[in-house]
Amino acid sequence: MAIRFANRMEGIKASEIRELLKLTTRPEIISFAGGLPAPELFPVEEMKKVTLKVLEEGGQQALQYSTTEGFTPLREKIAARMAKLGIQAKADDILITNGSQQGLDFSGKIFLNPGDVVICESPSYLGAINAFKAYECEFVEVPTDDHGMIMEELEKILETTPQARMIYVIPDFQNPTGRTWPVDRRKRLVELAVKFDLPIVEDNPYGELRFEGEIPPSIKSFDIDGRVIFLGTYSKTFCPGLRIGWVCASEEILTKYILVKQGADLQSSTISQRELNEFLELYNLDEHVEKIKDTYRKRRDLMLQTMKEAFPPEFKYTYPEGGLFTWVTMPGHLNARDLMVKALEKNVAFVPGGSFFPNGGHENTCRINYSNMPEDKIMEGIKRLGEVFAEALQK
Ligand code: PMP
Repeated sequence: MAIRFANRMEGIKASEIRELLKLTTRPEIISFAGGLPAPELFPVEEMKKVTLKVLEEGGQQALQYSTTEGFTPLREKIAARMAKLGIQAKADDILITNGSQQGLDFSGKIFLNPGDVVICESPSYLGAINAFKAYECEFVEVPTDDHGMIMEELEKILETTPQARMIYVIPDFQNPTGRTWPVDRRKRLVELAVKFDLPIVEDNPYGELRFEGEIPPSIKSFDIDGRVIFLGTYSKTFCPGLRIGWVCASEEILTKYILVKQGADLQSSTISQRELNEFLELYNLDEHVEKIKDTYRKRRDLMLQTMKEAFPPEFKYTYPEGGLFTWVTMPGHLNARDLMVKALEKNVAFVPGGSFFPNGGHENTCRINYSNMPEDKIMEGIKRLGEVFAEALQK
């Protein structure tokens, strides 16, 4: 039988990261490949208590269907927490989603027709690229520097790209580069979006994981006419397994997200939302986030220090002030996919950077995660990578 799939499936390929992650679950592998939080920091004991309390005090409601918008006490807490990012929101501005990944998929569904263009950073988050591709869009990548998307380049692109329908950005500790945009670029992005009348999707899973300095105001905080859609998540500040994220947007736009969520899955898990809400009532999330930051800061410092000692000087890498990743740029003639194979022979994994560029190229880059591996493995893994890189240079 010749099974006929929809046209949109042509753009949907197996994710390289997923395929790689399958390999990297072997216990002997030192993996810098995924974007996984440190599991030893998950509050397992606290969650046992929380789960019991939720079931004892309201078990029937916790196991029942609930509203599409989400559990109101949790939406209230999310709205209040957004003040940290300079956003004045109320519960009604928030829709709970199944992770921010669902918010990305919905953004594609709501804004993109086949052939429309998404304007994104070069490179950008692979999961978003794949989510948007399902809507048969094209990508125009805006050049970036150490401070994120270059606004002059964006303006030139917008002037010549009438098919642009959406601007997608990750301004805080970007996945994959770890870079953060300064305030003036955030303001300028909003001005340009107004000038060219485009919505902005601001994806911010990592902003709160800042190891040094102040959290800058989000792009949404400069929104003057309700065109910025903010996607948030508890995956990195709490636990990704709960699958709780949110969309914060103006009423006109949020209504569309609520409608597509009804069609997609009716609602996010009632019990997950109630458990998270109970955790936030019984415990202090700020203290938990401090613990995460302390651990990741140490791991970042150790990783960058070891890279300095072990990597050939021709290899450049970013200095992330927070988040989970550093981004390595190799001499132009090297191919990170080939080096990934060599690294795997030494039981070390990373993600070749080419997959983060929707239009290809840039094969001399790679993303390295520092949140997931304990200190001894970080040192050992980076030393082994240093050997692979040094050998490659000698050929
Ligand atoms: N956006 C970015 C930039 C991410 O890095 C991730 C997770 N790796 C997500 C969205 C999705 O996260 P989640 O669905 O767990 O909230």
